[in-house]
Amino acid sequence: MKNLVVGAGLTGSVIANLIANEWNEKVTVVDKNSFVGGHINDYVDEQTQIHVHRFGPHIFHTNSERVWNYLSQFTDWHNYSFEPNVVIKGQKVTLPFNLNTIKQCFDEQTAQKYTKKLVDTYGMEHKVPILELKQTNDEDLKFIADFVYKYVFEGYTVKQWGLKPEEIDSSITARVPVFISYDNRYFQDKYQAIPKNGYTDMIKNMLYHKNIQIFLNTKYKDLAENYDRIFYTGSIDEFFDYKYGMLPYRSLTFDIETHDCEYYQPTAMVNYPCDNDFTRITEHKHFLNEKSEKTVISKEYSHTFELGKNERYYPIKSDENAELYEKYLNEAQQLQNTYFLGRLGAYKYYNMDQAVLAALEFFDNINNYSI
Ligand code: FAD
Ligand code: UDP
Repeated sequence: MKNLVVGAGLTGSVIANLIANEWNEKVTVVDKNSFVGGHINDYVDEQTQIHVHRFGPHIFHTNSERVWNYLSQFTDWHNYSFEPNVVIKGQKVTLPFNLNTIKQCFDEQTAQKYTKKLVDTYGMEHKVPILELKQTNDEDLKFIADFVYKYVFEGYTVKQWGLKPEEIDSSITARVPVFISYDNRYFQDKYQAIPKNGYTDMIKNMLYHKNIQIFLNTKYKDLAENYDRIFYTGSIDEFFDYKYGMLPYRSLTFDIETHDCEYYQPTAMVNYPCDNDFTRITEHKHFLNEKSEKTVISKEYSHTFELGKNERYYPIKSDENAELYEKYLNEAQQLQNTYFLGRLGAYKYYNMDQAVLAALEFFDNINNYSI
């Protein structure tokens, strides 16, 4: 059987690796980029030797033993606790907004009052999405909700999505809930780490196999050959020539700068909801605790995705877009041996572990039914 994987991102690399290893079949992988890894690609900056996350900050985190064990075949890990900051009134404070952030933003007496109210209402270690907190009728909680909404979510969400927090799917802002805790970590998952030699190295190890052949700078539509099975991790609407219309996405651009100082900021990511045009600044040396007299940062800007002008980064979750996706999915289900996967193929806001798990589970099922 001739197998084709379109996309050498994380999803495509899992699928190619499984075909090569588990089926012991040949597989061709194509990617339109000149590099592997898709959005998790990183590279070593020549001047500083720092690993730079080409497409923004990537922290691997999961509670899935299966995903952790699977990826651990291809990399050793650098344990990493992600504790970013957000700038509120010019001051870098703890993000997610938690009980330490309250201490940093208010005088002692006020902080104590709001802390007590939050703990009494929700209990310690509870997470409250901002849109849920905004529903409160309690005067003190309303004050905190309005404060967090204004200084953490409103400006950032308008920059990131072109919409206000209440206009986007509530699951998006719920990714970063108010945390009634003194735990400063962005994630509470069991495993939190960065591949020791970078993400690209991990992907290369997944793809380094006698059964796998890779063609970079190669678009699916430019392929002349026919394949028996196609695993497509590009955008599903593109595959079908946009016959039902285009699935909307948000895009990003990055200004990558080298600075002549040891550190630019105290932590890997600092968000700027209220100031500047960019959403956040990433300082890359923090991820692997790399040492250099200089430092590399990237400023991240969000845009509407426009075909031919920029790239797809974030699917936009809404009922309307789900309906449009469903039309393409119905079309896809008429095809024999052609499967759509990954952030673009499934049109889902997957974290890395979710993308890997979806690919592993897809492979379980295809093994059970189709082959
Ligand atoms: P992609 O990486 O998009 O791979 C798709 C590949 O297909 C690309 O290489 C593309 O070039 C190729 N392709 C598409 N169309 C074609 C075509 N027609 N022909 C040939 N090739 C094609 N997740 C986390 O767990 N933690 C994080 O901290 C985190 N941070 C993130 C930060 C940002 C800014 C972004 C955008 C995402 C972040 N993610 C994070 C999510 C993570 O990037 C994704 O889960 C993961 O990259 C999905 O991999 P994928 O292979 O499905 O998609
Ligand atoms: N968000 C925000 N302010 C922040 C951080 C996040 O408003 O400082 C909102 C914003 O809408 C964002 C969403 O929460 O798109 C999810 O944030 P996350 O950090 O998970 O985004 P990602 O890393 O996936 O871009």
